[in-house]
Formats: sequence, C-alpha cells, structure tokens
Amino acid sequence: MNNSGNPGSTAPKIIPRAAHNVSRNEFSKSALKVLYRLHNAGYQAFLVGGCVRDAMLLLHPKDFDVATNATPDEVRALFGNCRLIGRRFRLAHVRFGREIIEVATFRAAAIHVDDDVEHDREGRILRDNVYGTIDEDVWRRDFTCNALYYNIADFSIWDYVGGVEDVERRQLVLIGDPEQRLREDPVRMLRAVRFAAKLDFSIDQPVIEAIHHHAHLLSNVPAARLFDEFLKLFQSGHAGRTFDLLREHSLFGEMFPDTEQEILRDDDFLNFIRAALKNTDRRVAAGKSVTPMFLLGVFFWEPIRKLAQIRRAEEKMSESQSLSLASYDIVAEQQRRITIPRRFTVPMREMLALQPRFLQMSGKRAMKLLEHRRFRAAYDFMVLLAEVGQVDAGVAKFWTEVQTQSATERAASFQIDSRARKKRRPRSRRRRKKRQDA
Ligand code: ATP
Ligand code: MG
Repeated sequence: MNNSGNPGSTAPKIIPRAAHNVSRNEFSKSALKVLYRLHNAGYQAFLVGGCVRDAMLLLHPKDFDVATNATPDEVRALFGNCRLIGRRFRLAHVRFGREIIEVATFRAAAIHVDDDVEHDREGRILRDNVYGTIDEDVWRRDFTCNALYYNIADFSIWDYVGGVEDVERRQLVLIGDPEQRLREDPVRMLRAVRFAAKLDFSIDQPVIEAIHHHAHLLSNVPAARLFDEFLKLFQSGHAGRTFDLLREHSLFGEMFPDTEQEILRDDDFLNFIRAALKNTDRRVAAGKSVTPMFLLGVFFWEPIRKLAQIRRAEEKMSESQSLSLASYDIVAEQQRRITIPRRFTVPMREMLALQPRFLQMSGKRAMKLLEHRRFRAAYDFMVLLAEVGQVDAGVAKFWTEVQTQSATERAASFQIDSRARKKRRPRSRRRRKKRQDA
C-alpha cells in the first residue's frame, strides 16, 4: 500500500541490496566517486530521482542527481572540481570532463514550512529555500517513482512513498494531493506526460483529473521555463507519443494555441505533425541530432501559411515574403507562452520562406537554391510535406535527384542552356556606374 498521501509519515521502507535490482553498474563512475567521497567524509549520500527510477527499469540513466546532508559549502570543500550555482537555493555542480554531477543538500518540503514558502495567487511556489533532512526532502519531489533514494552506505533503496511498487505497476502517482501539487508547480503536468511517454507508464487517475482541472495554469509558468520543458518533451525520442498525450490532456493547446486551433480545423495538418514527430523519433533513435527549429517550423507551418495568405490578399508581395512576415507575427504571438530564442526563430523563418522556391524547377535562380544555407532543412521540410501529399511527389523527386547529379546533368535538369551558361553577360550600366563611384 502506498502512503504517498501522507507527508507526516517519516519512516522509509528500506529495501536491502539483495531485494532490489538496482546495480551500481548502471551508475556512472563519476557519480559513484561523488557518493563515496561524501560517504567517506561522514555525510549521508544518496542518488535520487530519475537515475534510480531508470536504473530499476534498466533504462541506463545518463543524468545523476546526488542528495546529501552536507551543505553546499561542505560539498565544495570536498571537491576541487566543484562550482556552486543558484542564488536562493544553492546546488553544487561537480565536474568530471564533460559530465556534471549535481549535488543538492536535502531541502525541507514546502508543505512543512509554510512560513518560508512564497506562493502566488494560484498557489504556485515562488521559492522554497530551507535545508532539511532526507525525510523532509522526499515530500517536495513530484512523483513517487522520482522519490527513491539509493544509499551508497549499503546499496539499499529508501522508499518513503511506495515508489518501488509504483515503478513495478508502471504508474505515475503524485506525492500528496494532486490538485495542490499541480497548483504549486504546473510544470508537473508536462512532466507527467513526459514520463508517461518515455517510461510507458500510466498516469494515475486522480492526477489525470487534477490535470484536467489545472491545465490552464500553464499560462502562469514563466515562458523561458516552458521552452526548456518543450525541448525535453520533444527531443526525448518519444515525441510522437508525447504529442498525443499532451493533446489528450488538453496541455498542447496551452503551449501552442495557434497550432492547436489549426489542428482542430485540419486533419492534414495533424497528419503532417505526426509524420514530422515520427521522423524526429527515428532520428533520435539513430543517434542523429534534432533541431528544435525544425519542429517549431512544423508546429507553426499552418498558422503561418494561413496568415501569409491573408497578407498577400491585402498587399502585393511574393509568397516567400508573405511567409517571412507572417512568421514574425506568429512567433511574436507564441513568445507570450514560450520564449523561443532567436537562434531558432531566424533559421525557422528562413526554412519556411524557402518553401515556395521548390516549385520553381528551371533556371539559374532555381538551381541556386541548392547552395542556400537553409537548403538542407528546407528540403527535409518539403519532403515531409510531400509525404503527406501537400507537395507534389514529382517536386520532391526532382529535388532529391538533382542533389546527386553532376554539374552538366544538373544544368540540364534546370533547363539551363550550357552556351548561355558559359557566355558572360555584360554588366549592367547601373552596376558599372556604381563601381566607378565607389
Ligand atoms: P529525467 O532526468 O529523465 O528528465 P528526472 O526525474 O531525473 O528525469 P529531473 O528534472 O532531472 O528529472 O529532476 C530530478 C529530480 O528532482 C526528480 O526526479 C524529482 O524528484 C525532482 N524534481 C524535478 N523537478 C521537479 C518538480 N517540478 N517538482 C517536484 N520535484 C521535482
Ligand atoms: Mg534527472
């Protein structure tokens, strides 16, 4: 039976090494080094959170969080390769080459220290910054499966909340009252979906109900934090399932309202997004990189295309121009929800504005597209559109073939007359004049 609803209970169930399947082989050498050094210096040292959960599920954790009763200054005194980060609540980052092990001092749960916790009107925690003991630390964690502590002293697992059982049942259960825990931090709704998709867990029914009551609270979450969460949601290798779950629980529309509105209107757009997410997941599985700008382009494609059409009806401009202008507006609107850094919005806009150019398949200007710095992304995007029937299959075939052709074959494909190609056109008078002036 799990006691996740009872923060007063402070006796953990201690599962000895012989009775659980979590092996040290699942943990990185660096994480173990940190644990042993803390332990040898007389402190308590546990691995906690996702790494213990993933190790139980044999998912090879990559990211390790250590929890200890040593204060950040005491941690720093033990490790040369250590930096303290965070202002209100300080964490220690111990660095080993490219790997960083995060070491956090036990913190008291918000519910125990009401005087020290600031809430906003909806009950969102604005800060909680009180050090505590392990049996206080556990109650501020989100899901029972994320609240398992692996003790380096004897390799046992400490379970205060029935987390082991919930991992075995593959259930995502919030610790405490789901309504309150989601109000405190609405991002937990996205985390529920992310873990459900990644771990293939079911979300506990009371949590589902609480999500349905509180989905709208996502609009109170700082836009920058939502961008971080967006990356985790869609670059995890389970983007397709994550997307479906987000929509099922009315969360997607809170993050991407314009996109959701178009999806509801247009099944083809939904199919396009699904195809793109499938593609993204395939890339992640193959160890290839995925860029968020591509996915953002997918999400915003229909809203942008529609607005571009309206723009062209109002004012004479090229299709590329109208797409580019519309993407400014859609992105500006979106920034109110999720902060998207310019390093993603700029290439995304370029990629989308190139789409009409794929329809021109003759002449030098058409051929020049192959040299554009966004050609690759724009081409992938166009192929995806072709996959769902929004671009003619012949167009996709043409651009696929020309990429591997020789210069002569290519000129023929683009119907460029080879004599005209060789003959240099005299410079125009205006350009010549300009040069002389310079
Ligand atoms: P993954 O690393 O696979 O994303 P994780 O569970 O390790 O999953 P992190 O974001 O690394 O997630 O957080 C580490 C731990 O910190 C969590 O397991 C959980 O115990 C706690 N935690 C993180 N975010 C929250 C939150 N918003 N509310 C409560 N506890 C949280
Ligand atoms: Mg983690």
